[in-house]
Amino acid sequence: MALAPYAAQDAKTRGRVHAEPPAAPRGEFQRDRDRIVHSTAFRRLEYKTQVFVNHEGDLFRTRLTHSLEVAQIGRTIARLLQLSEELVEAVSLAHDLGHTPFGHAGQDALNECMKDHGGFEHNLQSLRVVDKLEERYAEFDGLNLCFETREGILKHCSPVHARGLGEVGERFLKGRQPSLEAQVANLADEIAYNNHDVDDGLRSGLISIEQLEEVALFARHLKEARSRYPALNGRRLVNETVRRMINTLVLDLVHTSAAHIKAAGVQSLEEVRKAGPLVAFSTEIRDEQLQLKQFLRRNLYRHYKVLRMTKKAERIIADLFDAFFQEPRLLPSDHHDKAETDRARTIADYVAGMTDRYAVREHRRLFAIEEAAL
Ligand code: MG
Repeated sequence: MALAPYAAQDAKTRGRVHAEPPAAPRGEFQRDRDRIVHSTAFRRLEYKTQVFVNHEGDLFRTRLTHSLEVAQIGRTIARLLQLSEELVEAVSLAHDLGHTPFGHAGQDALNECMKDHGGFEHNLQSLRVVDKLEERYAEFDGLNLCFETREGILKHCSPVHARGLGEVGERFLKGRQPSLEAQVANLADEIAYNNHDVDDGLRSGLISIEQLEEVALFARHLKEARSRYPALNGRRLVNETVRRMINTLVLDLVHTSAAHIKAAGVQSLEEVRKAGPLVAFSTEIRDEQLQLKQFLRRNLYRHYKVLRMTKKAERIIADLFDAFFQEPRLLPSDHHDKAETDRARTIADYVAGMTDRYAVREHRRLFAIEEAAL
């Protein structure tokens, strides 16, 4: 299918930091997508928490299945808007590569540990993973991705950090937008997590269908599913509701964004960058999503059972960081050289790269004194 004139195009990429011969027969963004899928950080996503810690159950989302759902939703939207599916997919699959173990609790704890050393932000870390930390190529560090992919990965960024990032940070200083593909991946992330957290929340038993009926978006689609299938209940009823919610959100986003794009009259990616944000939900749907988000924050993310895990995770991350910071020789030896030049950042990279279970194991190896752990 032909791309719209305002789509990101392989042939017009701003290129890679290290020049490479064309990827033909693959396109440039397809090559980026492939590099991301083959990366070590991508495989680690399987054992990193989205909301529920990996060992709490086999059917909850992990960062990996979350990222796959973001990519799937993002591609659907991209296709309908005639944007580059490959670029949306690449950005979606990479957007969480920098997440610490234990989800947001881990990131907040690591940020606290790093407060005198430049802080820690998972979004910046995702860019750092693809720019610097992956070790796969003979001639450069990182994955050497196209500018457009890196731009999409860097969703938000403070001016202080933006100044240190060169070209990819410029838009945060100039108030410019990223490609429509990046904007799509960003909102596909929101659609994915709001819906799968409803699903996982119900599956876990921490929230109930009755509670969710106070959320307009859910109630509306539940009613639809019930009137279509009056005898339906349990998982199938949940699934029939959630899939309708996703559909509504995707179609609303496509229609609203198409109208914005048309009204702005953008004819190229450069014009997209200079326009305001064009990919958006309608006001009604945005408000409904907000209500759902607030519900999830109140009832799921702050549920006492989730908070217990959150607190434990914070302690594990803080303990690991402190132990390594006091004594960098406790780090595996391949980190020693780097730790000599930048101790805090090297430790943050190491800790952020851990999977949930690796962090738990490493904590036990450093702190447990029972014989079995030695
Ligand atoms: Mg995400």
